Amino acid sequence: MDCIFCKIANGEIKSEIVYQDETTVAFPDINPKAPVHLLIIPRKHIERILDPAGDQEKLIGHLVTVASKLAEQQGISRSGYRLVLNRGAHGGQVVPHIHIHLLGGRQMSKMG
Ligand code: AMP
Ligand code: ZN
Repeated sequence: MDCIFCKIANGEIKSEIVYQDETTVAFPDINPKAPVHLLIIPRKHIERILDPAGDQEKLIGHLVTVASKLAEQQGISRSGYRLVLNRGAHGGQVVPHIHIHLLGGRQMSKMG
């Protein structure tokens, strides 16, 4: 599988893994847009949310739970943070492996 996030998840590409469990891995974004910018991904290669449509509720719920725990750990829980899940071309998704962005440590601008 020629997928950069699969390779990070299985250790083929070195990254500073900040969290991992059976289903989920988190690591810093290589091009951070905020003082805290982590990516939370499933180990399983799924290109887009709900594609193919299936029971991803548990998976996405777990990713969000991990993101909020990491926010706590990073000390940005009180100040607040933004979770972003881009899907498809118009959503701005570049890497075709589900990921949630955890952004914090600065004031986010209004969504445009
Ligand atoms: P998206 O636009 O939602 O698909 O976001 C993809 C994100 O992955 C971007 O913010 C990139 O900076 C990030 N990214 C791409 N390659 C790597 C990598 N090797 N390690 C960490 N983050 C990466
Ligand atoms: Zn993948």
